[in-house]
Amino acid sequence: MLFGSKEMIRRGIEIIKLNPIDRFSLQFRLTLEIAMLSVLSLSSVAAWTSGKMQDILITTHTQNVKYIATRFPRDVELYSDMLPPNVGLQKTIDNVSVPNLVIWVKSGDNKQLLAQSNGANSSFMADEELMKLAEMPLQPMVYQFHDRFLVLYQGEIWIKNNLLGKVYMAKDVTDEERQLINAIQSLAVVCILATTATIITIAFRIRQSLQPLQEMNKIAGAISAEDLSQAKLRLNNAPSEVKELAQTFNMMLSRLSDSWEQQRQFVSNVSHELRTPLTVVLGYLQSLLRRSTNLNDYQKEALETAASEADRTVHLLQYLLDLARADSGYTIYRRDRVNLNELVTEVAEMAEQFSNRIIQIEASETFFTICDRDRLKQVLINLIDNAVKYSAADQPIILKIDQSNQKINIQVCDRGVGIPLKDQGRIFERFYRVDESRTRDTGGHGLGLAIVKTLVDGMGGSISIRSELGSGSVFTIAFAS
Ligand code: ADP
Repeated sequence: MLFGSKEMIRRGIEIIKLNPIDRFSLQFRLTLEIAMLSVLSLSSVAAWTSGKMQDILITTHTQNVKYIATRFPRDVELYSDMLPPNVGLQKTIDNVSVPNLVIWVKSGDNKQLLAQSNGANSSFMADEELMKLAEMPLQPMVYQFHDRFLVLYQGEIWIKNNLLGKVYMAKDVTDEERQLINAIQSLAVVCILATTATIITIAFRIRQSLQPLQEMNKIAGAISAEDLSQAKLRLNNAPSEVKELAQTFNMMLSRLSDSWEQQRQFVSNVSHELRTPLTVVLGYLQSLLRRSTNLNDYQKEALETAASEADRTVHLLQYLLDLARADSGYTIYRRDRVNLNELVTEVAEMAEQFSNRIIQIEASETFFTICDRDRLKQVLINLIDNAVKYSAADQPIILKIDQSNQKINIQVCDRGVGIPLKDQGRIFERFYRVDESRTRDTGGHGLGLAIVKTLVDGMGGSISIRSELGSGSVFTIAFAS
């Protein structure tokens, strides 16, 4: 049993460690407010009840004592006719005495003790200390005197308009007070247990009620632009308020999906419409540059600038078209068995011609994989193009093929400027460029790597990057072997 409770505490601590309390969460605030309210209400009920019980105890005993006190002068008067005053007083005290009541009478100036009960009925006697306490102005309360609880009374005895003395009474209510203290303690324990049980139940219920919202948050967080059309929140057993929210959210998702599709269609149409005439313009500019022999320097430079800008824009439009096609799922990937060594050599030779750079190939054996030959070529050309752009002209570019962990890896390595760690996670996003100043000279659009990732994913492979600022970058494409 003891082990069980220790285990429970240990688990509780683990849960708290795993889910640190969020002080700003609705769950925490609601639980805290309700817990505070229940502590406040239960403790006020407990305080009121114990105060009331104490009042009842004091009132009952005070009334008792007062009743005896009203009889006192009458009896004294009766005895004073037959007996000397002191004897009459003592007789009266003996007469009115009840168990646990101590009575004593003092002269009017409190200096002389005239008579007192003999203590036979009581567990204590009136000593100097008690007398001093009883002679002070009294409140309607239970007085603690050593280990006893007393209700005190003081009154004057007038006989035939003469002040005979002062009567004092001390009623021992220790047993009743102890019972009351026990009852109050039990009430406090019950209140603490009830409050704890209420807080635990409420915390659990609040957590349960907010669960659908957390689920909604998780589902909404996992939705990306690509799966917007299929994305839907489905919540079972959620309260109707949350279900309504989920429905509205689903309607919003569907509107978003429509406008995202329209936007994609628009980009695709515009790119398509612009690419053809611009390719014609580029063709004319290039042929003009090749054939014209009588151009002056200014005309030649203007035509070259126009041709290079047209070329850049045709490339951008081609990228946008490729991405739009891939997004709408119109890109069809062939599944060829490709000899990677041959393909890499072909791409390297082509790239060497265009870039005038040394491209080395490292492969210990011949590797094959299933992929789309043309798209893999496009991927490698884009990566080599970047490696050329972002490394010094005297640095070689290395293409490696190897196998590890049942994967065939093709690596494009350069010893260029490298990519800062903070940008590496975003490098494959559309239009993301590391540093405008760095890309100003190279003139990219930030779409090359987005296309590379789309194509590699489409072929069922994966792409990763390892890079160090100032040392170079390694892009690794992995296919299943
Ligand atoms: P861009 O057309 O601008 O080159 P990319 O999508 O191909 O667009 O690349 C995105 C950014 O990643 C580039 O702006 C460049 O800063 C960085 N980058 C890509 N490849 C390399 C590389 N091999 N070395 C250093 N930085 C690179």
